[in-house]
Amino acid sequence: MQFINEEYINALLEDEKLNDEELQKDILRKASEAKGLTLKESAALLKACSPDVLDELFRMAKEVKEKIYGNRLVLFAPLYFTNLCVNNCLYCAFRKDNRQLKRRSLTVDEIEEEARVLVLQGHKRILMVCGEHPKKAAVEFIGEAIERIYNINYNGNNIRRVNVNVAPLSLEDFKRLKSFGIGTYQCFQETYHYETYKVMHPEGPKKDFSWRLYAMDRALQAGIDDVGIGSLFGLTDYRFETLALLTHAFDLDSKYGIGPHTISVPRLEPALNAPAAVNPPYAVDDLSFKKIVAVIRLAVPYTGIILSTRERPELRRDLFNVGVSQISAGSRTAPGSYNESKESLNEHELEQFQLGDHRCLDEVVRDCTALGYLPSFCTACYRSHRTGDRFMELAKSGNIGKICTPNALTTFKEYLNDFASADTKAVAEKFFDEEVKNINGVTGKKLSKMLAQIDAGERDVYL
Ligand code: SAM
Ligand code: SF4
Repeated sequence: MQFINEEYINALLEDEKLNDEELQKDILRKASEAKGLTLKESAALLKACSPDVLDELFRMAKEVKEKIYGNRLVLFAPLYFTNLCVNNCLYCAFRKDNRQLKRRSLTVDEIEEEARVLVLQGHKRILMVCGEHPKKAAVEFIGEAIERIYNINYNGNNIRRVNVNVAPLSLEDFKRLKSFGIGTYQCFQETYHYETYKVMHPEGPKKDFSWRLYAMDRALQAGIDDVGIGSLFGLTDYRFETLALLTHAFDLDSKYGIGPHTISVPRLEPALNAPAAVNPPYAVDDLSFKKIVAVIRLAVPYTGIILSTRERPELRRDLFNVGVSQISAGSRTAPGSYNESKESLNEHELEQFQLGDHRCLDEVVRDCTALGYLPSFCTACYRSHRTGDRFMELAKSGNIGKICTPNALTTFKEYLNDFASADTKAVAEKFFDEEVKNINGVTGKKLSKMLAQIDAGERDVYL
C-alpha cells in the first residue's frame, strides 16, 4: 500500500545481527561524518542497549548537533485558537466526545490579543494550533488571523514567522495556506502503525490514514517549502515509530529533493478524559526517549528537531545535548490562555494535555544561557527565501552557521534590550559578549554593525 513498509521495518527490528555491539560502534563512527544513516543503520542504533554503546550514541549525537547547529536553540510559542474538534482521537482532550472539556473558539480579535501578549513577552515565531473544525479552523479564517498577527508591531517587535499545525488540507487549500505567508506546515502522523492508527482514530476525517500520510506531499506540491512531520510517542513500539518516521523523511527527500524541515517528537501526556493518554499503550521511558532523539539527529543531521513543553525542564536540558534544535517556551495549550489571568481561567478545563514545563519564556532563556545555549528568535531564512532546497544546500555546505549564529545573536540582543528581566540580563549579558567575541573576520564586522544598529533602536536586522 503506502511507502511505509511495516514488514520491512519489523524484519529490521527482529534482525538479531543488528544487536551486535561492534556493528553499532562502526555505525556510530560513520555517523560522525554527519551524512546521515540508512534505515538499517538507524534500526541497529535503536536496538542498542549496552551502556557503552549508548554513551557513544549520545556523545556522537551531541557532536553532530554542535557541528551543524552550534549551540543555538530556536524558540517559539504555540497559539491555540480553538479546541472544537470533529475527530475523536483517543489520546486527546479536544476529542469530540469529551463532554468534560469546556469548548472555546477564539475570534480573530482574540487571536490578535493572544499574539500581542506573545510579542510583548519577546516571541518572534508562533505555531498556530487547533482542533479540526470546518468553520472555527477553516482555511480562510486562518488566513485572516495570520494577517492580523503579522500586522502587530511594537517598536519593531513583531511575529515574523507563523508556522501552522492544522489538520491535513486539500491541494487547493494548501495553496491558499501558502498564500498567507506561513513558515512551516506541520502535521504529525501520530502513529505510522496502520492497525494502531485505526484504533486510535475511530471517527471523523482523521480516520483516513492515507489522507494524513500524504498531507506533506500535497503541501509540497502546493508550493509550501518547509514541512514538519512527527509521531506521537507512546501509541506503539517506539522503535517501529522512529523507523517509520525516518522512512517518511527519506521518502520526501527522494521524491522532492528535500526532507522535512523539522521533526517533532511529542510524547503522550495526561489529558482530560482521554483514555489512551491516561494509560499510554506503549509508554516511552526517558532513556528510550533520549535514544529516539539521538538516532533521529544522526539519521537526518540537517533536519530541525522540535521539543515541546510537554517534557519536564530536567529532561529538556538533557535532550538539548543530543540533538534538539527548536523548543517551545512559556506555552499554554488552552485557547485564550495567554491573555487571561490564571485565576479567571481554569486552564485544565480547556487545555489539550498537561505540560511538563511551566516556566515562562524569560526563565527558559535564562536557563538556556546558563547552560551555554544561545537562544535564537531568528526568522531570517524564511524571509530571505532560504527555504526548502535552498536552505538544505546552505546547511549541507556548512555555511548556514555563518548566517545563523550572527542572526541568533542579533535577535537575542533584541530580546535582551527589550524584554529580559534583570535576573536574566545578569546571567545572559556576559554569555552574550563571549559569543560575540567568537565571531571574527568579515562576519564579525557585519555583526558589530548590526548590534550597533540594534542599540540605536533599529529592529529586525539580519543577514
Ligand atoms: N488537530 C490537528 C491534528 O490533530 O492534526 C492539529 C494539531 S493537534 C491540536 C496537535 C498535536 O497534539 C497532535 O498532532 C498530537 O500529536 C498532539 N497531542 C494530542 N494529544 C496529546 C497528548 N495527550 N499528549 C501529547 N500530545 C498530544
Ligand atoms: Fe482533534 Fe487533533 Fe485532538 Fe485529534 S489530536 S482530537 S484531531 S485536536
